[in-house]
Formats: sequence, structure tokens, C-alpha cells
Amino acid sequence: MRVLIRGAGVAGLTLAHELRARAIHVEIAETAARAGGGASWFAGGMLAPWCERESAPDTVLTLGRTAADWWDATLPGHVIRKGTLVVAPPRDTGELSRFAARTCAFDWLDADEITALEPDLAGRFRKALFFRDEAHLDPRRAIAALHDRLQAIGVRFHFGAAPDFPDAGFDRVVDCTGSCAIGQAAKLRGVRGEMLMLETPEVRLSRPVRLLHPRIPLYIVPRGDRRFMVGATMIESDDPGPISARSLMELLNAAYALHPAFSEARVIETGAGVRPAYPDNLPRFEIDGSTIRVNGFYRHGFLLAPSIAREVAAHLSGDWRGDIGQMPVGAASALHVPERVNAIPLQTGANR
Ligand SMILES: Cc1cc2nc3c(=O)[nH]c(=O)nc-3n(C[C@H](O)[C@H](O)[C@H](O)COP(=O)(O)OP(=O)(O)OC[C@H]3O[C@@H](n4cnc5c(N)ncnc54)[C@H](O)[C@@H]3O)c2cc1C
Repeated sequence: MRVLIRGAGVAGLTLAHELRARAIHVEIAETAARAGGGASWFAGGMLAPWCERESAPDTVLTLGRTAADWWDATLPGHVIRKGTLVVAPPRDTGELSRFAARTCAFDWLDADEITALEPDLAGRFRKALFFRDEAHLDPRRAIAALHDRLQAIGVRFHFGAAPDFPDAGFDRVVDCTGSCAIGQAAKLRGVRGEMLMLETPEVRLSRPVRLLHPRIPLYIVPRGDRRFMVGATMIESDDPGPISARSLMELLNAAYALHPAFSEARVIETGAGVRPAYPDNLPRFEIDGSTIRVNGFYRHGFLLAPSIAREVAAHLSGDWRGDIGQMPVGAASALHVPERVNAIPLQTGANR
């Protein structure tokens, strides 16, 4: 079988890996000059299914808990397993209890325990939640490494491809074009995420830290080299334009609230990515005419793409060999997914 994937973001690349692992011929057409230049470029790279459970359904936890293992097995050395620390300013500790009530698999820490984990936060927070099983990676390094690995195992890339790169000669076409499919994929919308990169030698953090705040929840992900990714806004918009002054101010204010030394940091990058999302904010694998769409990763591309890639690859290489346009409604159950995962909207075109 020959498969053409459109889009070399995290969704397309992880799928290509799973298809090659099943000895399927894969080519990737990407309109940009390199891999991972869409929403994937701006991601925090947090593999944090328990924290995300605060605002996401159980499916995200079920599908996301194996993500760190997948990335570790696929790209050894990229995953950093140091957990996630969640803090709140002293006047907002109620936010911590609210967060705790909606999640699981954490420990409550007191001020001394916070200091032991992150000495630079000493004396700043009285309580915290620690999600020890969570992990993170640098998305840009991971995407570059995945691209190299895919090339090494025989995936052919067509960079700078036309949006309608010819699909003659392929048995299947999988559309992984993220927010570029808005307007083509029914009900797909954009959720704008603005971020910035700070550089300072004065703060050392070794793991992602989330600051709960009623107005400006923020996270900071250490990138090494004294750099910190600060994110991210959640704005119902598919505008990929530069960060707004207000968002910049709010993200900087929140970084300052986490540690005042961030006020002396250099702002070395600002950016905005458009997260592709369906109404339930869960990813979908759906059949649209002769095309298969894998989209809607919302704020969970690095977290959920490996699981979805496995399911789509199992489907494409598996038992079901009929015409793609007639894939039965409810075919998710044929995808060998764990029982609870069937809740994920893996839909056929007829079911949309
Ligand atoms: C600020 C921010 C922070 C985030 N943090 C996290 C996080 O910590 N953890 C996490 O798991 N997720 C995070 N996400 C979400 C994650 O980045 C997205 O879910 C994910 O990148 C979506 O991947 P994708 O491959 O579907 O889309 P994209 O990464 O946008 O890739 C789509 C690709 O398709 C290409 N393309 C478009 N049209 C065509 C065409 N016609 N033919 C060929 N190619 C085409 C584009 O050039 C692009 O390269 C974050 C997102 C943002 C914006």
C-alpha cells in the first residue's frame, strides 16, 4: 500500500512513523520548506495528561498517558521525565484546590518540598501540586529528529509542495493539515495560542511550572540554554498574526508573578499558533470522500498524536479492506482501541 500524507506537523509525522513501522510506503507533501512549521512550532511540548484532565474529558488522559513512552521509544533522549509543578499565588490557593478536585495522580507539596524540587521558587509559594508522572520535550528538536528518523527509514518528503500535490499512484491520502483545513473539515475551528520565549541566567527551573490564576493561567517550560517558553493564550480565533500587546503584557505579568527575575529576561521570540479544534476539543479520524482526515488536536498534539497515529495505522493496515467511503459508522470499535477510548469521535463522513 502507498500512502500520501499531506502536512508534516506532529500529526502527519507521527502517523508516517506508525505506517512505516507496518512496512507501508509513505510520502509526505508539505507546503512549507520544512517540517513542523505550523501549530507544532509554537507548542510547549508538555506531555501532561493529568494536568490537562482539569479541563479535558477522560479520553485525553486515557489516550495521552502513553505519549511519553512513545516519544521515548521513538526518539530516545528527548523526553524529560521530571513531572509538572502547579502553583498559585498565596491569595489564589483556592485555585489549587479547584484544580486538584478535577485531576488525579498528584501530591500536595508544602513550601519546603517546593524548594527541594525547584530551589529558585523558595519562599514564593506555600502550597503546590506535583504531578510526578508527567513529562515534556522540546517540540522543535523532537520534530527535527522525527523528520530525520523518518527519512532514515524510507519516508519521502516533498517540501514546498503545492497544496493540491498530485495523489495519483497512492492508495490512500491522509490529510493532516491542521488549521489549514478550516473551511474544508466540517466544524473545525481555530484556537489561537500566543507564546513567548524568554532568556535569563537568573532563573533556573528544571520542569514545567503552571501558575494558576483566575484571569491569566500560565505555564513556563524550561528549554535549556537559559531559555523558557511562556504560554499560552486561548483565543477563539484562527488569526495566525503576531502576538497582541495585551497578550504580551499578560504573559509577562504572569511570568513576573512566578518569579520577579523574569523582569530582567530578554524576550527573544514571540509567536502565535492556531490550534485546530472540533467542537468537543477532541481529535478525529474521519473519512471525507476519498480522503482520510486526522485533525482536531487542539492543545494536545504532542500528547495525543502518537495514540491516534497508532489507531489510524492499525486501521489502514488492518482487517478492514473495503472501499474507504463505506467505512461503517462506529468503525472505531474495529480499531482495537481500549474500551474507554471508543468515546473518541473516530467518525465516518456519514456520521459527521
Ligand atoms: C501556543 C501553543 C502551545 C501548545 N502546547 C502544547 C503542549 O504543550 N502539548 C501538546 O501536546 N500540544 C500543544 N499544543 C498543541 C499542538 O501544537 C497542536 O495540537 C499540534 O501542533 C497540531 O498538529 P498538526 O500536525 O495537526 O498541525 P500543524 O502543526 O499545524 O501542521 C500542519 C502542517 O500542514 C501543512 N499544510 C497545510 N496545508 C497543506 C497542504 N494543502 N498540503 C501539505 N501541507 C499542508 C502546514 O504547513 C503544517 O506544517 C500547543 C499549541 C500552541 C499553539
